[in-house]
Amino acid sequence: MENCIFCKIANKTASSKIVYEDSDIIAFEDTTPSAPVHILIIPKEHIQSIDHLEGNHAGVISKIIFVAKKIAQDKGLSGYKLIFNVGREGGQIVDHLHLHLLGGWKS
Ligand code: AMP
Ligand code: ZN
Repeated sequence: MENCIFCKIANKTASSKIVYEDSDIIAFEDTTPSAPVHILIIPKEHIQSIDHLEGNHAGVISKIIFVAKKIAQDKGLSGYKLIFNVGREGGQIVDHLHLHLLGGWKS
């Protein structure tokens, strides 16, 4: 989607520090980290939020969680938080679905 910063990151017209990528998903470092490790995992397809998921998104949303687990394990995190902010009232600022992976406090 035009003017969506995360679509631009997904199609490489905006730069990011990519930590994982496959055909459906890309994960990159948050530019304003809230934890020592702060990664955002997104579908390459523009989906606005969890509130906008449809039945055909079951596969990609599941994959996002497995990718978060893999990144956490690769980074040696013994514990971490996974957060979806949903809508303005839920603290969502960027309207392209993303999972926050936060951790690294003790490592
Ligand atoms: P949310 O409040 O859930 O919408 O979180 C959006 C997150 O995206 C925030 O933690 C921002 O720091 C992060 N962010 C915004 N723009 C970029 C960008 N260009 N590259 C990486 N992270 C970004
Ligand atoms: Zn987008």
